[in-house]
Amino acid sequence: MCNLICPACGSSAVVRDRPVLRVKARGGPVLEYNGWRDVCVLCRESFSVSDLEDPIIKETLRQSERRSIQESLRFLETQGYAAATLERILQIPQRTMEEWQVRKFPPGAAVLLFILKKHPDLLRELDWEQ
Ligand SMILES: [Zn+2]
Repeated sequence: MCNLICPACGSSAVVRDRPVLRVKARGGPVLEYNGWRDVCVLCRESFSVSDLEDPIIKETLRQSERRSIQESLRFLETQGYAAATLERILQIPQRTMEEWQVRKFPPGAAVLLFILKKHPDLLRELDWEQ
């Protein structure tokens, strides 16, 4: 038991458990994590503990985004766009793509690469315009 009151029935018979929950970044895989949930023993009402769950959700989403980046880069390489070529066309610093795969990546990186993966023809057009 934890010192919580059920918002539905007012009982203090509330237990905290850690159900398996799922999140997914755009273009990334569905990943599971152990969330937090409070469940009323009396009325079976359940409510999530979002403040505890927040960092776990964020970290799991980051992992899904990173996998999305890796998958997009792998795919684009099979289309003739190796990391160095992408960096040249998109005018971003050398070794940035490698860094995105293993270390830090900026917000939106996964979505940008996901769009390019869906429409690699955009890269061809960008390349011609340079
Ligand atoms: Zn209750």
